[in-house]
Parts: sequence; structure tokens; C-alpha cells
Amino acid sequence: METQAIDIHKNDQSKQSAFNYDDFNFGTQPTDHLFLSEYDHGNWTSPRIVPTQHFSLSPFALCLHYGQTVFEGMKAFRQDNGHVHIFRPEKHHQRFNRSLERMCMPPIEKEHFINALEELVRLEQHWIPQDKEVSLYMRPFVFATEPRLGVKVADNYTFCITCTPMGLYYPKPVRVKVETQYVRAAEGGVGYVKCGGNYGAAFYPTQQAKEQGFDQIIWTDAKTHQFLEEAGTMNMMVMLKDTLITPRLSTSILDGVTRNSIIQIARDKGMKVEERAISYQELEDAFNAGNRVELFGVGTAAVISPVYSIQIQGKDYSPYIEDDAIMFQLKTALENIRQGRTKDTHSWNHFI
Ligand SMILES: *Cc1c(COP(=O)(O)O)cnc(C)c1O
Repeated sequence: METQAIDIHKNDQSKQSAFNYDDFNFGTQPTDHLFLSEYDHGNWTSPRIVPTQHFSLSPFALCLHYGQTVFEGMKAFRQDNGHVHIFRPEKHHQRFNRSLERMCMPPIEKEHFINALEELVRLEQHWIPQDKEVSLYMRPFVFATEPRLGVKVADNYTFCITCTPMGLYYPKPVRVKVETQYVRAAEGGVGYVKCGGNYGAAFYPTQQAKEQGFDQIIWTDAKTHQFLEEAGTMNMMVMLKDTLITPRLSTSILDGVTRNSIIQIARDKGMKVEERAISYQELEDAFNAGNRVELFGVGTAAVISPVYSIQIQGKDYSPYIEDDAIMFQLKTALENIRQGRTKDTHSWNHFI
């Protein structure tokens, strides 16, 4: 099928010039345009880019009641030489379609998805300043719009892409707790899917942990509560001695693009990488033996989020977070590829 041309209706005025890059909260200011397309009679129709606007939705819209909503989170960067690229759109597209399939929502063709991102970034690229550490966060999402109160798979959907500036921030190290009571996802469920319900369901346990002085929860597997899964919107990684270890993918773990990129970079550097189950007992043993343990989350937002304190069964341990930690080398290596400072050997940067 041929990729449909995208109709473009430009906003006469940009909010960009009034935007304060030195002081803003992430996710509060949409850029000037968004992409829209509706699914009707088995086809994605009238792809267009329009001035940022609100939606009109029936109170019976199925997404509001039964949770058919799926999203992606990705970024566009401006390199040191001024060129703009989208980071690994094919990989995000694959995951988007896996999520859509699991939620009985219609897939989106790769060309259609990437074309929409490209056109939108072309229009919004002036939101990515040359001289500041700011990228353009892109949020593609699909939600069920069919007005019908009966529990059913919707026949109509909206596909939207909206953008917002995001600082390449240097995340504060976090204090986490290994959660052995609440569960984020069970095997066979939707943990591997970026669907809205997963995040709403995680709020309550996370809030309880925050009241106890933690920043985040590390989830454990639903069956035995012994093996680390992931944290918030990040995959977890451990450096034990000279080996990078991360839980292997399953139906309860999200296939992070950052996870995949960091694993590839570590392998390219000749590091030992293991994708396998890792129990909190193994971590405790390593701490108790006096070994250096690095523990960190990986995701699009922060790239790497170092853990400075982890509570396991009521006992606190301190992972290594000094400047010479391997995790920071991995982070710098990924940033260098994105900024065009080192060769992009895997063609991750999709230039527009
Ligand atoms: C989005 C997300 C991640 C990280 O994925 P990236 O593609 O690296 O941003 C990890 N875990 C969960 C639950 C997520 O929603």
C-alpha cells in the first residue's frame, strides 16, 4: 500500500519564542502542531498535521471505560553540527505495533508511522535549540474512540503524535526499594505493552514507597517475588564485577529501546553481557561480599538513572555511583552516538 500524503495546516504563530528553556517542567508545553489520523472501516484515514488542539470525544468513547490506549515515548535530537534526527524510529514502531496487537488495536504501517514523525519533526525542529541540552520528546499514541458502552473491541481509533521539549537532564541518583508485595505485571499479562493501564496500576504502590522515603520501586516477578523486573518507566541493569546483567525479556518486561542500545554498546566495547534472571539474593550476596555493585535504570527520559541506595527485605545497601562507574561510560557512549561525536555504526540516528 502506498503511503498516504499528509495534509499540513500550519499554525500562524509559534509559542517557541516565548518558551523559557532555562526553567520548565517536562510535559507541560506542547509544540505548535500535532499529527492526527482516524481509523475507520478498516483503514487509517486522512493523515494530517494541524495546529495543536483539544479532542472532542463521546462520553461513551471506549478508551475511557475499557482502557484501549497505547503509547510510545521517543526523541528527536539536534546534533553538534545542527542536523536533526529521530532516534531509532523503526525499533519504536515495532514495539508500538506489538502493543497495539496485544490490545486488539489496529497496527500502523512502518512507512506511515515514520513519515508522520518525519513531517512533524520537520515542522517543529526549531523547538530543539542548538546551544542548549534540550531534545524533542515525541509521544505517538492510539486510543479507542467508538462511542459504545458495551464491553467490546472498538471499531474506531485516533492516532495522534504530540511533541514537547525535554531537557537532557542529569538525573539525581535515586533511592529504591525492592517490592515484594505488590505486582506490576505477571507473565502472560501486558507488562511488555506500553498501555495506559500499566501506569495507573503502578501509582498506588509507588506512592506508598514515596511516603516511606523512596523515589522508585524495583518490581519483582509475580510468581516468586525473588527476581528483579523493572522500575517505573525504566529497565534495570546491574554491573557485577565486569559483567553487565539485565533481566531477560518476557511478557512481563517492557522491551526498552534504551536497554537494547546499552546492551549493544556494551557488547561493542567487548564487555560481558548477560540477559538472565537476577534475584535480590544475588545482589545481597554481592554487597555482603564487599563487591562493587552498580545498579541503574535505563529509559528514553533519563538515559541512565543511577541508584545510590537499595532496600532489600528491610536492609539498605549502597551501590557504587562514583564518576568512574561503568554506567556513566555507557551513557556517554550513547550520547556521543546521538550527538554525532562518534560513528553511528548501527544506523540508529534517522536524519530528517
Ligand atoms: C517506556 C518504558 C521503559 C523504557 O523504554 P525505552 O524505550 O528505553 O524508553 C521501560 N519500562 C517501562 C515499563 C516503560 O514503560
